[in-house]
Amino acid sequence: MTRDDDPARDPARDPARDPAGDAELEARALDAQRRAYAPYSKFRVGAAVRMAGEVFDGANVENASYGLGICAERTAVFAAVIAGAHRLEAVAVCTDASPPSSPCGACRQVLHEFAADPAAVTVIAINPRGERRSWTLAELLPDGFSGRELP
Ligand SMILES: [Zn+2]
Repeated sequence: MTRDDDPARDPARDPARDPAGDAELEARALDAQRRAYAPYSKFRVGAAVRMAGEVFDGANVENASYGLGICAERTAVFAAVIAGAHRLEAVAVCTDASPPSSPCGACRQVLHEFAADPAAVTVIAINPRGERRSWTLAELLPDGFSGRELP
């Protein structure tokens, strides 16, 4: 049993781990999900990131050449970077999954790139039915690789 499978660790059953959430970020992720382009997988994802105090949103964008698709979290982070925001503070991801899906491994690494302190970055997963899970980025990607390890 992994930590995520452990019902005792499910934030929906542990109010101490599931504070009020982040209403603005969650609303933006929910809205972004409606703009997902997912004609192949039908797995629509919206994301919102707070970076340098501003909120940026994104959605997954698929392609007939499947490998060219990109996740919602990364489109949101890249929009922030293009706007000049490099400090990641919080993330919300909206899918139709129950329980709500966490970011994939590739997105965890991209989020880590812009997190000065991954233990201080909250990642919230929601769905339109109002279910919510949350973690810190450090919990989702322990010992993540960073540019500090490059020569
Ligand atoms: Zn991803």
